[in-house]
Amino acid sequence: MNLSNRRYTNELSAADDGERVCIAGWVHEKRDLGGVFFLIVRDFGGLAQVTLHRKSTDAELFERAKRVPRESVVAIYGIVKSEKKAPSGYEILPERMEVLSEAAPKLPLDTTDKVSAELDTRLDARFMDLRRERTKHIFIIRSEVLKAIRDFFNERGFVEINTPKIVSAATEGGTALFPISYFEREAFLNQSPQLYKQILMASGFDRVYEIAPIFRAEEHDTTKHLNEATSMDIEVAFVSDREVMALLEELIAFVYKRIATYPGLAKLGIELEVPKVPFRRITYDEAIELLSDSGEQIEWGEDLSTSAEHALGRIMGEHYFITEWPLALKPFYAQPSQRRSDICNAFDLMHPRLELASGSQRVHSYELLRSQIESKGLSADSFEFYLDAFRYGMPPHAGWGLGIERLLMSMLGIENIREVVLFPRDRRRLVP
Ligand code: ATP
Ligand code: MG
Repeated sequence: MNLSNRRYTNELSAADDGERVCIAGWVHEKRDLGGVFFLIVRDFGGLAQVTLHRKSTDAELFERAKRVPRESVVAIYGIVKSEKKAPSGYEILPERMEVLSEAAPKLPLDTTDKVSAELDTRLDARFMDLRRERTKHIFIIRSEVLKAIRDFFNERGFVEINTPKIVSAATEGGTALFPISYFEREAFLNQSPQLYKQILMASGFDRVYEIAPIFRAEEHDTTKHLNEATSMDIEVAFVSDREVMALLEELIAFVYKRIATYPGLAKLGIELEVPKVPFRRITYDEAIELLSDSGEQIEWGEDLSTSAEHALGRIMGEHYFITEWPLALKPFYAQPSQRRSDICNAFDLMHPRLELASGSQRVHSYELLRSQIESKGLSADSFEFYLDAFRYGMPPHAGWGLGIERLLMSMLGIENIREVVLFPRDRRRLVP
């Protein structure tokens, strides 16, 4: 075996006619036309047609090629021949074939996209599911989205940070936490980098971002919740909620624009329309009024249900912000409005289908923060490590957290959030 000169199938073309090459990949399909036998070989670049003629190909090679099970890994050494009828305009006339790994005959999934499979079956055999064109492109796009996000923030002078995912008992409350045993103590998996990115605002690092897992022990089984998700967070000092909202909408447009030119989109049957900025802004009060007009009653102070989010999404029809939320609905670190004491400078970024991000201007006064923690029924003492950062010079600041999976599923029109995670974690799924 010498695969060092191996070429990707998409690097070859009819122009290589006559060249002796080596390709390696999976046996995607086998087509037996009697006198001619085709092996379609798939690698990360695409597909190549390997053509064996009964009359001119070595008889032993011809028989071995016919017998090799589908999805086995093979290396093919042969001559490129221009062939208009082949899918990529060329075929390979093989001189030698090495079977590097033979696949078991009964496959858990079909990789040709001809036979559809249940999501659970696909997730159980994710390695195999990733051999399918559609799934492969979802994850290349995911990688491109992350790259675009980093480009966006790096160009704007942000510093990428990493905060701990193992934390002590004190957190922001709200969603349930996963406890873990940490030597003699109990600890938890972090539900958000919130407290740590805020602590950094007291350090002089005044523009930070993090892309990292968040853990939520939410028991419900929905198509938009994971127990381990990826959050994109920013925190910025010396600004208010308005500036970080502008960054958020610009980021969304930037990512869409970048992905809109990705060639694999066509394989997903998608054409991306770049959303226009600025996004519309409606207050929470306006939102419940619009909902009431459409027959969906939300009491002032109640959170928006999934059906309310959908109803509002139908009315708005594009990305929009909901601002000026009831203070009681948002976490203790949201800054109360100067205009009205029962609302706060918090916002949610909505896609017509679901919530994408939540953010706010933060409380930066030690006393107010302490009292807001206590009025949520939490113990301020267990937040000392966080509160300390507010005692020796904390600038005003604001930030948000955006769910990467929510962004992807809304952008690609995917129904189930599990589709955009390699190995999703939900109530029932802990393997693979
Ligand atoms: P929702 O109300 O939709 O459950 P949330 O308001 O509880 O979300 P936040 O705490 O505001 O979520 O988290 C910020 C963002 O992180 C959300 O807007 C969402 O994009 C993402 N997110 C939060 N929880 C989950 C989860 N369980 N699975 C996937 N993404 C999540
Ligand atoms: Mg939220």
